Amino acid sequence: MKKKLTKKESQDFKNKILKLKEEIIAEIKHIADDTLKKSQKEASGDISGYTYHMADVATDTYDREFSLGIASNEREIMYELDDALKRIEEGDYGICEDCKTIIARKRLAAVPYARFCVKCQEKKEKR
Ligand SMILES: [Zn+2]
Repeated sequence: MKKKLTKKESQDFKNKILKLKEEIIAEIKHIADDTLKKSQKEASGDISGYTYHMADVATDTYDREFSLGIASNEREIMYELDDALKRIEEGDYGICEDCKTIIARKRLAAVPYARFCVKCQEKKEKR
């Protein structure tokens, strides 16, 4: 029988999640700055930065979409991390939302914001 997380364990996971959040905030800020700089350059009509070749234009567009894609993915993780923090406060952390079993420590260590146990996660991914 697996045991619920102790206060100490919850605290450790909380610290881990807070650290992950900081890293993601830094990452989002970095991506946002980068995207902003690029669009400012274009808006100011900077001739030296102007790209004449269609291939270059395509690459620029691709880069920007790629960056934004990462940013939205990061935001999603941020949301998951915030939710995990809420679950820690409420004492629901580490319990599968589907079958209510205790999620393995190993899984939480790898994915601190996991909502489901491995079995339920696999079921969801197959669907
Ligand atoms: Zn489950």
